Amino acid sequence: MKKIPFVTKEQIEEIAKTYPTPFHIYDEKGIRENAAKVKEAFAWNPGFKEYFAVKATPNPFLMNILKEYGFGCDCSSLTELMLCKAIGITGDDIMFSSNDTPAEDFEYAAKLGAIINLDDITHIEFLENIVGTLPETMSCRYNPGGVFTLSNGIMDNPGDAKYGMTEEQIFEAYRILKSKGVKHFGIHAFLASNTVTNEYYPALAKQLFELAVRLEKETGADISFINLSGGVGVPYRPDQKPNDILAIGEGVRKAYEEVLIPAGMGDVSIYAEMGRFMMAPYGGLVTKAIHEKHTYKEYIGVDACAVNLMRPAMYGAYHHITVLGKEDAPCDHTYDVTGSLCENNDKFAIDRNLPEIQKGDYLFIHDTGAHGFAMGYNYNGKLKSAELLLKEDKSVQLIRRKETPKDYFATFDCFDFYDNFDF
Ligand SMILES: *Cc1c(COP(=O)(O)O)cnc(C)c1O
Repeated sequence: MKKIPFVTKEQIEEIAKTYPTPFHIYDEKGIRENAAKVKEAFAWNPGFKEYFAVKATPNPFLMNILKEYGFGCDCSSLTELMLCKAIGITGDDIMFSSNDTPAEDFEYAAKLGAIINLDDITHIEFLENIVGTLPETMSCRYNPGGVFTLSNGIMDNPGDAKYGMTEEQIFEAYRILKSKGVKHFGIHAFLASNTVTNEYYPALAKQLFELAVRLEKETGADISFINLSGGVGVPYRPDQKPNDILAIGEGVRKAYEEVLIPAGMGDVSIYAEMGRFMMAPYGGLVTKAIHEKHTYKEYIGVDACAVNLMRPAMYGAYHHITVLGKEDAPCDHTYDVTGSLCENNDKFAIDRNLPEIQKGDYLFIHDTGAHGFAMGYNYNGKLKSAELLLKEDKSVQLIRRKETPKDYFATFDCFDFYDNFDF
């Protein structure tokens, strides 16, 4: 399917007068339409709740949009928890799914009344030493080990992942938690990432539902929710078919009716912690071509770099690129599109067929709405960009200003430094 940016060249030219490139821009309309569809897909389950994975796009303006749909947040760090608190998301609207968790993070999660999802059996004692009495509702993260396969082949390798408890451990954890007064239980698992198939959630659900039946039977624990976590993917490449969340919801319903209903567990709530699926397609990184270089290859140098979007450098991830205003031009040139870091992996695209690019052209790098800005860092002293929201009425709101040198130097307050610069 042809990937079409949600902004035009004319819009970007106008926006860039106020907010120079590079910047991430988000599409409010797209976010809302998708959120409504997620709600519809699981409407059959009265307790359904999406806990948006804050790490994907930690921006309070965007989190607030999702909050309107009744969604909570999934956090895994102190500052993510603080972000939730700041916008009034507390209590069981927070799922705290962390790992290798520092004591102060557990302490703050408990203080906010978040649902705590334990990554390891040893965290029972660790948490108890911090909070004294365990909360009445607790969740445990499950890792079945081995490889996770669907009909189209191997999806991921849980046996190689640091997360979660073994089957034996989760049974033991439930028994211990129950003996310590925990009353309501959840199961969580994240077995495959960025799955572009409608089969992932239903297959995962079936596996977790079967585990839930065994756990309830053998430990007597009251299982109140099953958390399918994240992993629902998006089509980064034009040849990929997008997931159909309505079909995914129906698939989970089928497994629910097959496994949980006959076991008398028809009151179990389904939770999700999607990040990528909620936001990725509704964000783009807009950057300007500032150099062209002809050596052993053809290079286009842009004003963004891996600091603004790390996925290509980190995982060799594909992000589609549209040259704005040249949407219908033939892709008869082959370029490496590079940023300015002193790192040869700072390339948004390698050997990519694109229309001929002139200096000054705006490039729209697709699907940066999740795990895009958020993964940013400051290597080479590069500063993070602004984030903008394209509102439904087509106006533009600044939802995070770009960093300035003053921000970059802010943590040097232990050094006599500030007087040297006129910030
Ligand atoms: C990263 C993460 C998510 C979100 O994953 P997506 O692939 O963005 O949907 C959800 N839950 C946990 C615990 C995570 O670590």
